[in-house]
Formats: sequence, structure tokens, C-alpha cells
Amino acid sequence: MAARILNGNAIRDQIYVELSSEIAALAAAGVRPGLAAVLVGDNPASKLYVNSKIAACGKLGLASFLLTPPASTRTAELLAIVAELNQRDEVDGILVQMPLPRQIDSKQILDAVDPAKDVDGFHPFNVGRLVSGRPVLVACTPAGVMEMLRRSDIPLEGTDAVVMGRSDTVGKPMAILLMHANATVTICHSKTRDLKDVARLADLVVAAMGRAAMITPDYIRPGATVIDVGQNVIADRNEAERIFANFPEKLEVFRKKGSVLVGDVHPDVVNTAGAVTPVPGGVGPLTIAMLMSNTVKAARMRRGTRTPVASASRR
Ligand code: NAP
Repeated sequence: MAARILNGNAIRDQIYVELSSEIAALAAAGVRPGLAAVLVGDNPASKLYVNSKIAACGKLGLASFLLTPPASTRTAELLAIVAELNQRDEVDGILVQMPLPRQIDSKQILDAVDPAKDVDGFHPFNVGRLVSGRPVLVACTPAGVMEMLRRSDIPLEGTDAVVMGRSDTVGKPMAILLMHANATVTICHSKTRDLKDVARLADLVVAAMGRAAMITPDYIRPGATVIDVGQNVIADRNEAERIFANFPEKLEVFRKKGSVLVGDVHPDVVNTAGAVTPVPGGVGPLTIAMLMSNTVKAARMRRGTRTPVASASRR
């Protein structure tokens, strides 16, 4: 039987409805949360991501500020931009779009963001608070996965979860959040031996490796929940035909656009898993929704405004 499809767009829409009433309550108190996005250079994928974040602010009535320093920007110059945003009162959230050009020391930049405005949840202060189970701005993608699991009534307590990938932005915070939700968590990475055997024991698999369609049905225990964080663009016809042999509608997308998006999970897993997130339309929309939620949360925390806490931000 085909897996239940966990629809990220529908869950994002629910979260936006809840956030809208919270934003209206803040507006009544004279507060308009604002997000500043810093896009260095002109990486096309980064541009696309930042534009969709700015568009989401517009849709929800949040203020947004887009800064676009050139690709030649140096660490000291970007530090000065971040310092200025830290000072600006109308800016509640700051996101510096990654990856940054090579000459910039990314860690130094992330460390310079005021933790109270760190809506990406990447600052070591916020990571420490997350690990120690305190209220915090949580990294958006793993926070979005938790929202998806909770709102889809997928039980976590006592289950075996396998997180594939140990990046600071996705894998590590994901594992911590699942552990806090009382799952027993195994973290896998590129040096893990017998990944398939480890994965096959899991009730829940979160795939975040950036390896197109790597997780084939033989990695998945029948009935397991599979969350696909990966976003990989396939531009090679043979590869597209191999991956999507059983999905003519996806091959049609490839024929029309010359490329097609695939996650880290092979599409055939839909016939083995109990529940699965699609790509696109799964984790991606929730990442942006949680950025919006974090911006509202940062505004509330920074200004000490007591408004009802939308469940999306109750973390
Ligand atoms: P990353 O920083 O490149 O980390 C990838 C992780 O996967 C690393 O820990 C790496 O292990 C591990 N890995 C790589 N190959 C592996 C293999 N063959 N077997 C097991 N583990 C392997 O990537 P990321 O930033 O976490 O992103 C992961 C994916 O999620 C990418 O496709 C990215 O585009 C996507 N993403 C999506 C969203 C969204 O909103 N949907 C948000 C963020 C990221 P090592 O540590 O040993 O190198």
C-alpha cells in the first residue's frame, strides 16, 4: 500500500493562519515584527531562497529588509553590516544567507548575530540553550520537521529514530529535538558503517545528506515514517529517467523544465514507508514557516510583549 503523504504546504498554511492572528495581536500593541535578510553576491539558489523568505514576510504582514552586498564583500565589512542590524530596533530577526563567498569567515559572521535576533538558530548561545532544553530560537528546518511530525500525529516517544546527516544546521539540532521528544536517536554520517542495516531498524528516518535519491526502499522498514530533507536538482536526463522510472509525471516536469527536484529519498520508497514527505512540498515550506514563526517569537521575546503564543512558536 502506498504511504501516507505528509503535505508540507497544508501544514505551512495552518501555521500561517495561527501566526496571522498572533501578528494581528502584536499590531494592536503597536509592534510589527521585522526580518532582515543579508544576501551576499548573486548565487542563483540563494537568491531564490531569500526571495521566497521576503515574499513570506509580505504575505504575513511582517516588515522585511533586504541587504545585498556584493560578492567581493570581506569579513570585516559584513561584520559591520551585522553590527548595524543588531542595533536597529525595527529589526527583530537577522538571517545571513549561506553559503557565503569563500573569503568570508562564516563562523565569525554567525557568531556576530545578536542571539536574540538569531532567527536561524545557528548562534552557539542558542545551540547551547537547545541542547540544555531551554526556550530558544530553534534552527528552522529541524523545527519544521518537528511541527510536521506533531501535526501529523506521528508518535515519537519510545520510538527508534535515525537521523542521516550531522550538519550544524540540520542533522545535529534534528537529533537533539527528537531526543527531547523521547525518541531513541541514532545519528549517521558519511563514515557510518552498514547504514542500510542501521536505517532498517528505525521507526523514523530523517534523511539530510544532500545525496540524490540515495535512500532506496531497502533502507526502510515497512511502515516506517520517512522525512526527506534533501533538495537536489537533477539536470541529467539519464539520471532523471533512472530515478523516476515509475513516476511519468516527474519525467514530464523534466521534459518541460530541463531539470527536476529530488530529495535524498528515492521516490519508490512511497511503496514501503508508512508515511513520507514529498519533494517539493514537504519539509521546504515548513522551513520558511518556521523562519516566520521565529521572527514573531523573537519580536515577542525582545520586546517582552505578552500575546497568546501560537503553537508553532511554543518551543
Ligand atoms: P551538509 O552540511 O552537506 O551535511 C550533509 C551531511 O550528510 C554530513 O553530515 C555528511 O556526513 C552526511 N552524508 C553525506 N553523504 C553521506 C552518505 N553517503 N551517507 C551518510 N551520510 C552522508 O548538508 P545540510 O546542509 O545538512 O543539508 C542536507 C540536505 O538538506 C541538502 O540536500 C540540502 O539542500 C537540504 N536542505 C533542505 C532544506 C529544506 O528546507 N528542505 C534546508 C536545509 C537543507 P559527514 O559529516 O561525515 O561529511
